Amino acid sequence: FMRESDGHPPVIFALASGLSRAAIAVMRLSGVGSGRIVESLCGRLPAPRRASLRGLWRRDGAEPVLLDRALVLWFPGPDSYTGEDSAELHLHAGPAVINAVADTLVALGARPAEPGEFSRRAFTHGRMDLMQAEGIADLIDAETEAQRRQALAQVDGAQSRLYQQWADRLRVLLAHQEALIDFPDEELPPEVEQRLVDGLQELHATMQASLLEGAGAERLRRGLVFAIVGAPNVGKSSLLNALAGRDAAIVSPRAGTTRDAIETRIVLGDVPVTLVDTAGLRDTDDEIEAEGVRRSLFHVKQADCVVHVFTGSQAPPRLEGDGLLVCNKIDLHDAPEGAIGISVLTHAGMDVLRDVLAAHARALTAGQAQAPFTRARHRAAIEETVHHIGRALGMDWPEMRGEEMRLAMRALGRLTGAVDVEALLDTVFGQFCIGK
Ligand code: GDP
Ligand code: ZN
Repeated sequence: FMRESDGHPPVIFALASGLSRAAIAVMRLSGVGSGRIVESLCGRLPAPRRASLRGLWRRDGAEPVLLDRALVLWFPGPDSYTGEDSAELHLHAGPAVINAVADTLVALGARPAEPGEFSRRAFTHGRMDLMQAEGIADLIDAETEAQRRQALAQVDGAQSRLYQQWADRLRVLLAHQEALIDFPDEELPPEVEQRLVDGLQELHATMQASLLEGAGAERLRRGLVFAIVGAPNVGKSSLLNALAGRDAAIVSPRAGTTRDAIETRIVLGDVPVTLVDTAGLRDTDDEIEAEGVRRSLFHVKQADCVVHVFTGSQAPPRLEGDGLLVCNKIDLHDAPEGAIGISVLTHAGMDVLRDVLAAHARALTAGQAQAPFTRARHRAAIEETVHHIGRALGMDWPEMRGEEMRLAMRALGRLTGAVDVEALLDTVFGQFCIGK
């Protein structure tokens, strides 16, 4: 039996295929010692990267036991996903088969992988940077075509290349900065300092602009939240159900029925949108209903768009910030000017409303063809870089300016995982699911 082989991290394994019922389950293993495990299971190693049909055997009892007949693929390192010796076993997807093979892998010294561990090893072995690793996680989570395109661009290194350009510019400026410190004024042409400041200013402006351009991409990655608000009984729950195409919320003629927020996820304009049906916003003596109202206000604050529903028998609510006015029950009363009139009951106006919501979703997630970033983590690192460049520009002493530029460099390096790696890895890869 092998255990953790001489200083190398142990061989890890996990199902790489989804957990839903399927014909084939892909079990993936990686690490020094994968080869010996595959040999123990199925005899000699298959030719690299070629699928071979093999019997998988457990051999630690009196008699060898056949576990499954499976396609076996062998990926010798370093040209594998993780950079290590790896293999894939394409098993028949029954739970008993999967369990028997997993037990045998453990008996052979492998252990189940932690979330994101395959990708983390790929990162450690220089097969991808952090941005690309996160892109792979996003590609697996992508629900819509727009999200798929965005994630794939990230896997292909769109942002990594952009950050590399920024880092290169900063490095050149830093070299000029060092020259300013090392050489007395007389020996350097006077324009060196001016060019340095100009260069910093330009980079500062470019990165600051990217913060605005990336906001839409970040929203596209996480999906949007649209809150449906309005007085009790105007038809909020009915509207949510109609948009979702199913009964997610309770519809009742009694006011104050929806006490807690009900969420449902739909796709609008190729963007995943969580619709939140909030409890009616009104003063109430009922404790539970009051709690619902408090939560509604919380959702309204978090929402990317607030859909205010009212009926023609009431005065339209005043719009604050980004929102839509929707007048329901136009089968009973006409909609006032400036509101989108609908009747959930008769479906009147519903197509128009769907189009308006989809346009809203698209506008909120629109941005540059190449998103400069897609996550809060990226935004924070870019903001920090911009902050330090800004401070460098405010410094009169060259020594202090250099220090700020180095801090900017460091924040930028965190984006791709070039610096400060250890602190980051748990956070980044911990969000992955197992088998990635
Ligand atoms: P909420 O309290 O705002 O969530 O309102 P509900 O969705 O529970 O609806 C309250 C009542 O209004 C229910 O009896 C619905 O059937 C009714 N209702 C919803 N939409 C319409 C509509 O377009 N026309 C009419 N006449 N009644 C509606
Ligand atoms: Zn309701």
